[in-house]
Amino acid sequence: MIYPLALAAAVLSSSSLAHPPSPRIVQGDWFQPRDSPVHELFKRDPPNPNDPNFQNSYPPGWATPPVSSLPQSWLNKLASIQLPNVSVSNPNNGYPTYADGESPSDSTICSFTYQCTTSTDLVNPPDGVIAISFDDGPTDESPTLYAYLQENNIASHVTHFMIGSNILSNPLTMQSAFNMGGHIAVHTWTHLYMTTLSNEALLAEFGWTMQIISDLTGGRIPMYWRPPYGDVDNRVRAIASGVFGLKTVPWNQDSGDWAIGHDPAYTNSSVQAQMEQWITGSKSPGLLILEHETNPNTVANFEYSYPLMKSNDWKVENVAEAFGFDWYQNSANNNGSAAAMSVAGGSVSGASATSSSTSSSSAASSTSASAASTTSDSGPSISAAAAGAGGANGSASKSSGASASVGTESAAKTSGAAMRGVAPFSYSQAGAVASMVIVSLGTIVSML
Ligand SMILES: [Zn+2]
Repeated sequence: MIYPLALAAAVLSSSSLAHPPSPRIVQGDWFQPRDSPVHELFKRDPPNPNDPNFQNSYPPGWATPPVSSLPQSWLNKLASIQLPNVSVSNPNNGYPTYADGESPSDSTICSFTYQCTTSTDLVNPPDGVIAISFDDGPTDESPTLYAYLQENNIASHVTHFMIGSNILSNPLTMQSAFNMGGHIAVHTWTHLYMTTLSNEALLAEFGWTMQIISDLTGGRIPMYWRPPYGDVDNRVRAIASGVFGLKTVPWNQDSGDWAIGHDPAYTNSSVQAQMEQWITGSKSPGLLILEHETNPNTVANFEYSYPLMKSNDWKVENVAEAFGFDWYQNSANNNGSAAAMSVAGGSVSGASATSSSTSSSSAASSTSASAASTTSDSGPSISAAAAGAGGANGSASKSSGASASVGTESAAKTSGAAMRGVAPFSYSQAGAVASMVIVSLGTIVSML
C-alpha cells in the first residue's frame, strides 16, 4: 500500500467540513534533517491512526511505559546530561517531600507546588496577552470545544497540553485539533506526579508522548510541556529540557474548572465569577490560566469567559505566540516550514557535532524495534534510510540523578546549534519500499 497517501486521506476526512479539501499532507511528510539529534530520538515511519492496530505501535495507555520500552537513544541522551542534585520526591498526598528535609521551595529543588519557578519557566505572558491553554485532552468533550473555537476563529490561538494515553485512545480527535490549527503540546503519558518518578520513568512519560504527537503531526517535535498538578522540580526540568528540549509551562492562575463536581467549593458560577474577576482586572502581567478540555463544565467555563476576553480587549494567543517562540522545535507552526530546529541542552548539539558513534546504528534500530516490541503482530517499521544517521553520543559519561550539582538553568540556557535545511530521502516500511520526496510545509496550502 502507499502508506503516506492513505494517511493523508485519513487526515483530510477528519478535518473540518467548513473548509474545502486541500492538498495538505500531514502524515507522509517528515521534516527533520537526518543528521539532527532530535531526528535521532524520534525517527520512524508513523503508524496509521485509522489502523485497528494503531495502538500496538505504542506502550499501553495509563501506565508508565517500562524501561524496556525506551529506545537506547533516549537512554544515551539521559546519560550524556548532568542533572541537579535533587532526589525523587515522596508523594505525600500531592505535596511532595524530599530526602533529608530539604526545602522544596529553595533554588536547588524549586518545586512549583511550593510556588517556586525558574527563569526558564513560562509563567507570565506579556502585559495585555492572555495565553489560552487546555489540558488533559483529547477527550469525548474535545469536539464540542473545538467547534466553539472554530466558530470564533481562535482554534489556532490555543495550546492543547495533551495526555499521551488520551491521544492513544483518540488519535483522530487529536489530529482534528492540529488540522484546525491548534498548537499541540505535552502533558505526559499517564498524568502522574512527575517528581515522584525515576529518571527512566520520566524519559518514558515525556518521550512516548512526544513520539505519538510527532507521529500524528507530520514529524513535528513538541517544544512545550505542562506538569500534571503543577508538580515539577529542577530534576524534572533538567530531563525535560536536556533530553527532549521541552520548555516547562506552569500557569499564573488556576481556574479550578477541574474541581467542579469534585469539590463543593467549586461550582460553575464560582469558577466563572473568578474568571471574570481576572479578565476584568489588571492586564499586567498577562494571564496564563489553567483550564481543561475534559467535560461540559470546563468547556462551558471557557465559553463563558471568552466573550469577556474580547470585550476587555485582551490579546488572545496560544502559549507559543504569547511568549514569542516557535510552536515546535522543528517547525514555526502547523503550516510553516520545519527548517528551524533548536534543541536545549549542550549535550544535544554535542551529539550532532560528533561523528556517528558505535551506538548510532543500534540506537536507530531500537527506536523502532522497541515500539514494535509492545505488540506481537505489529511489523517493525524500521527506517532503513535512517540506520546510518548520526547517533546520540553513546560514549558520554553516565550521570545519576545525585551525582552532579549543575543547576537546571545552566543546562536549559545552553542552546544547541540550530539545524536548518530539510533533505529529501526515501524510506522503507515493512519490506514495501515507498519512496517520496519531502514536501516543505511552506508549500502546502493552509486550511485556515
Ligand atoms: Zn492535567
